[in-house]
Parts: sequence; structure tokens; C-alpha cells
Amino acid sequence: MDLESLYQDIILDHYKHPRGKGLLNKPLGSAFHVNPTCGDEITVQVNRDAEGGLIIGYDGQGCSISQASASVLVELITGESIERSEVIRKAFLELMHAQGVGEPDEDVLGDAIAFAGVAKFPARVKCALLSWMALQDAEIQAGLITTGEGA
Ligand code: ZN
Repeated sequence: MDLESLYQDIILDHYKHPRGKGLLNKPLGSAFHVNPTCGDEITVQVNRDAEGGLIIGYDGQGCSISQASASVLVELITGESIERSEVIRKAFLELMHAQGVGEPDEDVLGDAIAFAGVAKFPARVKCALLSWMALQDAEIQAGLITTGEGA
């Protein structure tokens, strides 16, 4: 199996079996983002557990890339510190802006490396980034991060 098919399998698996899909009871922050060019919709919510780890809730509909990306996000970010979640989010942004020539760091990105192939298609990059942009806004709304750091 080549890398491209492996990546597609990972994305399809997350699309068919979304991890942690569902909204939170009392989120600290919540953001709803749409990708009009594709029709994708995502709500991402954040809260923190007793140890300060992040709890993520989400709901949405749209193409397999947008929905799989949200599922991967939940898997990667749940339980992590704010600092770590920022490292992961920025690594994903970097990967999606690398136009397919980036070298994804699997230690940081886990299943999100599967989106390396998507980065070659500018129209699909927005699909992949949708939930990650919503995460950023939800964290800002919750007062967990500030806007000044760039995206
Ligand atoms: Zn899409």
C-alpha cells in the first residue's frame, strides 16, 4: 500500500468512525465556522478537566475531509495542555500550508499526517483547516489563548 492510499484510509476511517463527536454541556468557549465553497459546517467547543487538560466537543456536517479533520483534532487535543495544543495546531497549519512538500512530524501530528496529501489541493485545504480555525476561536472565546500570536 502506498502512502497516498494509507493517508486516504486514515481520513476515511475518521470520517466513518468520528472520535468524540458531540457537543459539551457547559463549554468555556464555542465557535461555529462554515466553509461556503464546500458547504462544510463545524462547531468546536472547549472546556478543561480538573487537571487543566482540554476537553473538546464538536458537531458538524460536510465533506469527508472537513469531518475527518475534526475527529483527528479531538483525538489529538483532548487531555492536552493549552501550550501543547498550540504546538499541535501550529504544526497542522504549517503542514496544510506546505503544499504537499512538508515533512509531517508524526510524534506531534499523529493521524493528522494523513492530511499531507490534501495540502496539495488548495480548495481542500480550507476543508481540513475548518475545525482547527474554530478551535482557535473557541479557545480565544474561553480566554485560554490570545489573538496576538498569529495563526
Ligand atoms: Zn469540504
